[in-house]
Amino acid sequence: MSAIYNFCAGPAMLPAAVMKKAQQELLDWNGLGVSVMEVSHRGKEFIALTKQAEADLRELMHIPQNYHVLFMHGGGRGQFSAVVNNFLGNQGRALYLVSGQWSSAALAEAQKLVGDAQIDSLNIVEKHNGLNAVVLPELHKIDADYRYVHYCPNETVDGIEIFDELDSPWPIVADLSSTIMSREIDVSCYGLIYAGAQKNIGPSGLSIVIVRDDMLKLPSLPQSSIMDYRLAVEHDSMFNTPPTFAWYLAAEVFAWLKSIGGVASIAKINQQKAQMLYACIDANPFYKNGVVAANRSQMNVTFQLADESLDGAFLKEAEAAGLVALKGHRIVGGMRASLYNAMPLEGVAALVTFMNEFAAKHYK
Ligand code: PLP
Repeated sequence: MSAIYNFCAGPAMLPAAVMKKAQQELLDWNGLGVSVMEVSHRGKEFIALTKQAEADLRELMHIPQNYHVLFMHGGGRGQFSAVVNNFLGNQGRALYLVSGQWSSAALAEAQKLVGDAQIDSLNIVEKHNGLNAVVLPELHKIDADYRYVHYCPNETVDGIEIFDELDSPWPIVADLSSTIMSREIDVSCYGLIYAGAQKNIGPSGLSIVIVRDDMLKLPSLPQSSIMDYRLAVEHDSMFNTPPTFAWYLAAEVFAWLKSIGGVASIAKINQQKAQMLYACIDANPFYKNGVVAANRSQMNVTFQLADESLDGAFLKEAEAAGLVALKGHRIVGGMRASLYNAMPLEGVAALVTFMNEFAAKHYK
């Protein structure tokens, strides 16, 4: 069978080497004669796995000692509510920066839960010559006392990425679901980072939370115990039975990333992949991307065909060529190619070849 390249925005491809290893040890993990899914999460073998996973993640992301690393349930959206419940209390105030679909969804969830606390929001996307551009606000000039400012540096649906670090007088809470480990970030700039696992880490359902120690002193709202950061810290992310298979795969992905040189090394490849694809889009009048160069996402490349009546043919022919899941999100339409860490350069090269051939055939 020839190669299939999966451009799905999530759940996404996992590294081939990880999938192969997982397949080999599916029925016999660690010489125990059973699957990793069948052993106690409190047994010494699984505990060793969790310690190694945390150590590897700390090394990959250079996480300082005053941050806790949590492996939680509930994916990205689970954290939309956890952040509010853990940090706002009854009288707190928070600011949400809106740059696309996911930051809007986080804001909507916060507004739903806020009770007597207060949520402010700021739209940070403007049109520059018809293209979406992020304009970061001068937060120091805002006269308010926020518990945190929430933002999403990569909008998976809209294909918008914010590469500049946010300069904030308040703790920054960041949704890194589709950014984490794709490029280097300075963890010490954040009060809390969260990420659904299903893009650069592992299977859906799991979420990674990296939280600075002092954030846990903020007054919280009554909430479900399994989403309580303080309990998660106290119980080493095992207040209840954790998603063990997802945790295992995440551990394998961290080990794989270390083996190929870590985040700095994959970041270079990610940059190369995105450049190849945007160059193809820019060179062909048949394709169009609606984001200014400085905010074009490296992980989720969105594009439209000049003639949208050809969308169906594009997707069908791409699939026949082994290039799958290129349909854009239902809210924005068009196409989207997600280029997470597991997507090899060859996958993007194959997509570029296909797009050039499709344009030559259909665009006169
Ligand atoms: N935040 C971002 C940036 C996402 O891309 C997604 C999902 O794709 C989510 C949050 C929601 O994640 P989940 O579906 O795991 O709740």
